[in-house]
Amino acid sequence: MSTLKFPAPVQPVPLFDAKIQYKGLKVHLEEAVRRVLDSGCAIGGKEVEGFEQEFANFCGAACAVACASGTDAISLALKALDVGPGDEVITTPFTFFATASCVARLGATPVFVDIDPYTFNINPALIEAKITPRTKAIMPVHLFGQCADMEPIWHIAEKHDIPVIEDAAQSTGSEYQGKRCGTLGAMACFSFYPTKNLGTYGDGGMVVTNDREWARKLVGLRNHGMYTRYYHEEMGWNSRLDAIQAAMLRVKLPHLNLWNSARQQIASRYDHLLEEQHLTGFLTRPTIRTYGKHCFNQYVVRVADGQRDALRKHLAEESVGTEIYYPLPLHLQKVFSYLGYQPGDFPVTEKACKEVLALPMFPELTLEQQRKVVQSCLGYLVKERGLRQAA
Ligand SMILES: *Cc1c(COP(=O)(O)O)cnc(C)c1O
Repeated sequence: MSTLKFPAPVQPVPLFDAKIQYKGLKVHLEEAVRRVLDSGCAIGGKEVEGFEQEFANFCGAACAVACASGTDAISLALKALDVGPGDEVITTPFTFFATASCVARLGATPVFVDIDPYTFNINPALIEAKITPRTKAIMPVHLFGQCADMEPIWHIAEKHDIPVIEDAAQSTGSEYQGKRCGTLGAMACFSFYPTKNLGTYGDGGMVVTNDREWARKLVGLRNHGMYTRYYHEEMGWNSRLDAIQAAMLRVKLPHLNLWNSARQQIASRYDHLLEEQHLTGFLTRPTIRTYGKHCFNQYVVRVADGQRDALRKHLAEESVGTEIYYPLPLHLQKVFSYLGYQPGDFPVTEKACKEVLALPMFPELTLEQQRKVVQSCLGYLVKERGLRQAA
């Protein structure tokens, strides 16, 4: 008797799944939206102010100023420091575009510094050589959920009297030396884009600071530079967080610590499963620095032997979602060609761009789903070795 073997039905494992959190909080989210609609106050008001205060408390900071996106948060923070034409801002080329585009849109020049090969964050040892009399700020990015190594950056910043702005878009809830992101520089910029650790159902952002003067300035800048109604003191713009988004974020914020611990557990499960399947030579696991707490916005591995793209294709065929953050470094982007950088200028970043792969990561990811991800990686290696032996 022969048994026909059909392949097991493929259960897709998405890179990210926003629907599970929505289902869990549906009643409360919908109640929050209804509360805003009933109030007739769609812009500003109680919900936005309440969320600003709660978010500042979460970070352990004095002030939080909400705005329309993480991108705007960066622009507002830079503008509050008066960054403009002729100024330079030191940052990393291995980040999302907005980190540097906000500098450039204000007419200033992003000055890139290569990254640490283990954390993918700005390499503090390379910063000081890039400081000039025009350096207006240093903007480290806490990439993938792990803080940049801030202590050496603080020393450089203090020595040269240059403020530090955190791009904390991917690290809401991360810590460095026991302090949360948002308190590690003069100002910190957060994003509530749906895939961030605290994501909403649209766009949103926040600038966090301990300095009340800066907070006051940010409040003016996000509202047309207007401190007294219809009297415009400086060139601000319109960048507000909708009351509906604020109300939904207030529902989600109390869960963030739990969600972040779930992400940490999922990361250590990946670490364990990759080890168990002897995959750690092929896939280099994330390096976790003991100086802080990683909140794993992404679980990013390095793929050996130039096989990243082939592995990604195989995983896609097996319905495992992955992403490449980021395939092309900022210094080699077409829009930044005027800065004059060349391939080879930042070798550590350029190598990372060729090797990194983000695996599925969200707080509700199950062990079974993770097993499938790791099995699929193993399946790729078996297939690839078979092909090589046949050749
Ligand atoms: C998401 C992100 C931003 C921009 O945030 P938006 O809310 O999408 O505008 C900026 N910097 C980094 C590092 C990000 O990941």
